[in-house]
Amino acid sequence: MIKLDNSYLNLPDDFYEKIQPEAVDSPSLIAFNFSLAEEIGLNIDSYSQEDLAEIFSGNKIIENSQPLALVYAAYQFGHPVAQLGDGRAHLLGQSNGFDIQLKGSGRTSFSRNGDGKSALGPVLREYIVSEAMNRLGVPTTRALCAVKTGEEVYRQDGPEPGGVFTRVAESHIRVGSFQYFAFREEFESLELLLDFTIDRHYPSLRSLPLHEKAIEILKAITVKQSDLIAKWSSFGFVHGVMNTDNFSMAGITIDYGPCAFLEEFQFNKVFSSIDQRGRYSFFNQSPIAKWNILRLADCLLNFIDEDQEKAIARVEQEIIPMFAMFEEKRFKAFASKLGLTDYSEADNELVMDFLNYLEENSMDFSLGFYHLKDLFVGDFKNYKKTKSLEDFVIKWKQRTPDLESSKEINPLYIPRNHLVQKAIDGVYAGDHSFFHQLNEVLSSPFKEQEAKEEFSRPAQGTEVVEKTFCGT
Ligand code: AMP
Ligand code: MG
Repeated sequence: MIKLDNSYLNLPDDFYEKIQPEAVDSPSLIAFNFSLAEEIGLNIDSYSQEDLAEIFSGNKIIENSQPLALVYAAYQFGHPVAQLGDGRAHLLGQSNGFDIQLKGSGRTSFSRNGDGKSALGPVLREYIVSEAMNRLGVPTTRALCAVKTGEEVYRQDGPEPGGVFTRVAESHIRVGSFQYFAFREEFESLELLLDFTIDRHYPSLRSLPLHEKAIEILKAITVKQSDLIAKWSSFGFVHGVMNTDNFSMAGITIDYGPCAFLEEFQFNKVFSSIDQRGRYSFFNQSPIAKWNILRLADCLLNFIDEDQEKAIARVEQEIIPMFAMFEEKRFKAFASKLGLTDYSEADNELVMDFLNYLEENSMDFSLGFYHLKDLFVGDFKNYKKTKSLEDFVIKWKQRTPDLESSKEINPLYIPRNHLVQKAIDGVYAGDHSFFHQLNEVLSSPFKEQEAKEEFSRPAQGTEVVEKTFCGT
């Protein structure tokens, strides 16, 4: 039997709306992550596939579960939005401290004009990509279940099959959750949220006085987010919508929308159709993360010091200098990919030489790093042999790279857009085999697998996906 707690219910009811998911016609299971269920202590032994489809579509509510939709606000593309919230998601509760949330499970009072539903495509996409991220070692929400609802939803290209995704997360607390109360100047609630966040993610800060909690959580989030962005960078991941509602207080990747992995390397690559100015481009993810942390700091200023100027001065003195971590960790991550284990700032030039080479020659980001072992022994077959590459190789070899050390950092298999699309197309046509095969290959991303060339090959010709869209 599944048993869930729900610590959000200890918070006052202006943090959420208690609301049941909408029932769907005829849910069927497409994928269920049994090993994740075990990891989070979810006892599903007594359920059939049909039961699981009923539970994780929202049709059948587990005993004692009180589903809720959380409220939050945001800065979206730099502009404040006073109220957002789970407009198509229902948090069922927690198992071993992990939130379990349905996405695409119907309207809530935060749905605005949306239908509260999700097409099956984005459900499958999030399933594939979030599990692949986990296997790559990137902190992320996880995929527990993908269900086909048996209903249709209407999207820009007409009707599509509907789906419900079950997401597991260390929490669903976002910078936007703080902004909701800060924008309304509801400081009591804001303090409750701060304590709730500290309890769940930063328990060592529990006993500090309020002003220290506020400054220390900013430091803690700076550490976590700089680690996260360095990981994203090292795998060529572009999140696509780093609005503050998609910026996790637990420091995990959350809200997979128009995200994608780089193929041809470009520093400023953008995939998302709505990111017209490149605000959330690949290389802009570090500066944006810093900007988001400063927006969190705005919310906490009152707690840091009653005197606004003194509060700002503390942020300037204690937080902003820490932001150097973002650049440093990102360079260090790239240096590790080059096999340089004893990174120093002097390696930045080498890193930039290689990235510039990749960009100038439209090289595939992942394969460019994966094949370095060939380059090391003078085999240029996977590269365009240019003067700049030859110069790089000489300098690089002088640094005596240890390519054994970079084995678990340079994947051969990443969820390339065209592969994800092929998996979705297959399921839409009633054939689930490629979807399952892709998940299987991506579960072991670093080691070459037999007869799996298709899964490491970059998109060609019409396969290339230039634009990605939000999940809805
Ligand atoms: P996301 O793209 O998941 O970050 O969502 C941005 C905001 O739009 C959140 O407040 C969502 O709850 C809301 N939203 C997205 N899709 C829908 C939908 N189909 N129906 C209602 N609300 C939605
Ligand atoms: Mg979001």
